[in-house]
Amino acid sequence: MLPRPKKRLGQHFLTDRHYLARIVAEIAPRAGEAMLEIGPGPGALTEALCGIVQPLHAVEVDPELAEALRGRFPPSALVVHEGDVLQFDLGALPAPLRVVGNLPYNVSTPILFHVASHVARLSDCVFMLQREVVERMVAEPDTPAYGRLSVMLQEQFEMSLAFRVPPGAFTPPPKVESAIVRMRPRATNAPRARDERTFASVVAAAFFQRRKTLRNALRTLAGEAAFRAASIDPSRRGETLSVAEFRRLADAVACLPGAALTERAG
Ligand code: SAM
Repeated sequence: MLPRPKKRLGQHFLTDRHYLARIVAEIAPRAGEAMLEIGPGPGALTEALCGIVQPLHAVEVDPELAEALRGRFPPSALVVHEGDVLQFDLGALPAPLRVVGNLPYNVSTPILFHVASHVARLSDCVFMLQREVVERMVAEPDTPAYGRLSVMLQEQFEMSLAFRVPPGAFTPPPKVESAIVRMRPRATNAPRARDERTFASVVAAAFFQRRKTLRNALRTLAGEAAFRAASIDPSRRGETLSVAEFRRLADAVACLPGAALTERAG
């Protein structure tokens, strides 16, 4: 029998066997892999995975569900880490690590950024999320869904929407459609922003007020010299820049410290 779902923990349990089988097929677990499941809940996906990957690691914040999982699977099959995944050190697990899960939708974006902060140790991720969030993750420039989440994650991962999952596949059904996203770290020799923090600041500022021109949105970060160095027209809006263009602009900002201030003062 399913435990009573706790809304504040985003608990919508996958109960449709057809979609469960499709998700397992998408993950395609293999013996010997290092794998972490986020939010195993009552363990529908967990059971399928830990029959193959042993031990499967799982991090679950709900003590009742964590306890039930410990009672159901021996530690040789499943290692349950009880606690908030946002406080969990993925660096403590073996690499290359696969991370999977039907994520709690109320904290899905912080979880994505937390997992992404360990990108160098990841082999891939397969997550179920709100469809609208997956569409933002994979969005192309100059589309309504393209924003900070798209650029920050596309800088680190190749991502694709695998398939959609209707609300009826869950108990209780969520109000929104869901989708499966696959994330693979970009090749280690792929171009990267020189300085991650500058890249993050430029992207955040560009989308903070997305209708503003880059000249206005980045007023305190980038002067005309940075735009010139990056060959980017400052009258464009952030939402029109590709990830590569954001990288170029952030690199120019990182190379020209103080350029914005100097020009404004002059
Ligand atoms: N995997 C199960 C399934 O598909 O039926 C449950 C999915 S449910 C959408 C999300 C799960 O994540 C719940 O079990 C919930 O308790 C757990 N959870 C919520 N917030 C969490 C957090 N911050 N850290 C770890 N687990 C969390």
